Amino acid sequence: MKSLPPLHPESLMMSHGYSPQSAQGAIKAPLYLASTFSFTKAEEGKAYFELAYGLREPEAREEMGMIYSRIDNPNLSILESRLCLWDQAEAAAVFESGMAAISTVLLELLTPGDLLLFSSPTYGGTDHFINHFLRKIGVEAISFYPGQTREEVIGMVEASGKSDRLRLVYVETPANPTSGLFDLEMCREIADHFTTAEHPVRVAVDNTYMGPLWSQPLTFGADLVIYSATKYLGGHSDLIAGAVLGSAALIKRVKTLRTFLGSMASPHTCWLLLRSLETLKIRMEQQARNAASIAAFLQSHPAVSKVFYLGNLEPGTRAYDIFQRQYSSGGAMISFAVRGGEAAAFAFMNRLELIKIAVSLGSTESLIQHPDTMTHAGVCPEVKEALGINGSLVRLSVGVENSLDLIRDMERALAGISTAQPAGQKDLVAV
Ligand SMILES: *Cc1c(COP(=O)(O)O)cnc(C)c1O
Repeated sequence: MKSLPPLHPESLMMSHGYSPQSAQGAIKAPLYLASTFSFTKAEEGKAYFELAYGLREPEAREEMGMIYSRIDNPNLSILESRLCLWDQAEAAAVFESGMAAISTVLLELLTPGDLLLFSSPTYGGTDHFINHFLRKIGVEAISFYPGQTREEVIGMVEASGKSDRLRLVYVETPANPTSGLFDLEMCREIADHFTTAEHPVRVAVDNTYMGPLWSQPLTFGADLVIYSATKYLGGHSDLIAGAVLGSAALIKRVKTLRTFLGSMASPHTCWLLLRSLETLKIRMEQQARNAASIAAFLQSHPAVSKVFYLGNLEPGTRAYDIFQRQYSSGGAMISFAVRGGEAAAFAFMNRLELIKIAVSLGSTESLIQHPDTMTHAGVCPEVKEALGINGSLVRLSVGVENSLDLIRDMERALAGISTAQPAGQKDLVAV
């Protein structure tokens, strides 16, 4: 009999990496609440520890068994094997938060004296870790921006006088909250430009906003892909988690540091994520469809002066060119400016009934927040201005609700708010 052609990830999310026979036929993986695992005999324990400590290479077909849940756990290992399928990665490491994943990658790939090149704006926690903790331990960092060319960025790295210490290009794209895009192939070229025989320069990409469904950075030359699994992967606003994917060799390094920092995801978090992954594709597709309808509604609304949505990029622009190459959907994040500044934006948010006011994104329910006073409250005024963040801007994460209900909620909330411009506040313009 002919065997099946390779299955799509969504067909494997219910079964991959788990054998019902290992758990009395239970169709779904049980929750393995165990801190430690018994060895059938002392020799088995010895063999597992030899592999765990890298004292010898595994023999042909030899598999590492479970030792202790800070190192591995059945829920963690099933989850990691399933996550690999979406990004076509060799290996994955799951963490108890997105920040644990990000900080572990940065700590593993950088040592004091090194130079880090990172995209800006980046997630607030990442920015803080780079600019406060990494600087404190002697890692220097310079940032680059959407729109800069390869030559400009290479020039900046050279001008730092530390180009021989560049070890990592860290990219978050699209950049939050106004969806500036970074060209991943360009980032790879920049890393390759500074790579030497002794020192590879790695590229790590925070793919939280568009992954794993709509963008696969490994196919554009990234070495590592990072997620806040709190967002689309978890998708129900009921857990915090993170993930890193890449080659088996790099993930082994990341997992080794994870073992000693102790920041692996708990069995319960993994179990919830396994459930979430079964519906990942249908959730994300519905969210993206809703976002397209909502963006069209906002675009034509007189109280809205500007809409940032990846599905609306202008053909012929550099951003549009990057979008066409890197992404298969406009995603489900929309930022838009309400005429009338902060007062009007707040009045609009407060009048919403179905859409809840909260930070975070990627969940089944729609969430709205105000970057200027919430997620980006700590960003200095000049940078905010350059990014297009002011009192008018709100950021919407679109959920799986009926799009008509969402549009009616916003239509009602926008009607009747005062859109008179406060003195001194400009309308938001594209940046
Ligand atoms: C939320 C988020 C993070 C941090 O993830 P946590 O799970 O909250 O630790 C990192 N990057 C991006 C782009 C995020 O949206």
